[in-house]
Amino acid sequence: MAQVRLFVEHPLGEGQSVSLTREQAHYLFGVMRLGPGDSLLLFDGRSGEFRAKVAEAGRRGGTLICAAQTRPLRMPPDLWLMFAPIRKARTDFIVEKATELGAARIRPVQTEFTNAERIRRDRLRAHAIEAAEQCGGTFVPDIDDLARLDTVLDGWPADRNLMFCDEALAGQARPLAHRPGPWAILIGPEGGFSPAERARLVAMVQAVPVSLGPRILRADTAAVAALTLWQSRLGDW
Ligand code: SAH
Repeated sequence: MAQVRLFVEHPLGEGQSVSLTREQAHYLFGVMRLGPGDSLLLFDGRSGEFRAKVAEAGRRGGTLICAAQTRPLRMPPDLWLMFAPIRKARTDFIVEKATELGAARIRPVQTEFTNAERIRRDRLRAHAIEAAEQCGGTFVPDIDDLARLDTVLDGWPADRNLMFCDEALAGQARPLAHRPGPWAILIGPEGGFSPAERARLVAMVQAVPVSLGPRILRADTAAVAALTLWQSRLGDW
């Protein structure tokens, strides 16, 4: 049987006891049918992965005891994914895939043609945690609140390269240039970027305008394609 992997908001270490929330107890003992003495894997996003044993199992809680570390913390590259939120299920998908493919920080941005006014950060974080649990990750990306693109660009770090995925370049040969330093990927909304946004982005020295092929991709597909392209050229794959 596959090992159960669980994320806990609790610093881990050998011998550490971890108390479970009601939801975690329900998942481990109700859904996965674990009981006292059974073992599972835990990670906290900071300390790597640990084997643990169930010490107490209850309906509303329980206690686990950490044994040895099974994997060290493995951070993704210093890569941000910025995207304009779309419909709920597709936004969830983007967060899930960004976690699996290896992004360090997820920054939803509101562009001129973005429809979504707000995001549910707790919901997106739950998706990131679930993705990390399933893909063997030891890290969960940070998820920022929705911020306006122009505000984010006002404070843009001088040393962070920006992979600007521009649908206006579809079909042109614009491969991803090799530049050292931290990076961010920017994906626009279903309505694309406005002329003013495009002009501002193209003028930034940190920006690297990129084409994702001859076809116009949906924003969720574009996010996966851009992460794959970046990871295979500049990342940890
Ligand atoms: N409505 C727009 C398309 C937006 S697609 C139009 O018809 O022009 C959503 C986002 O995905 C874009 O803003 C861009 O960031 C990215 N994207 C999609 N296809 C792309 C391509 N071929 N090259 C670069 N970026 C692309």
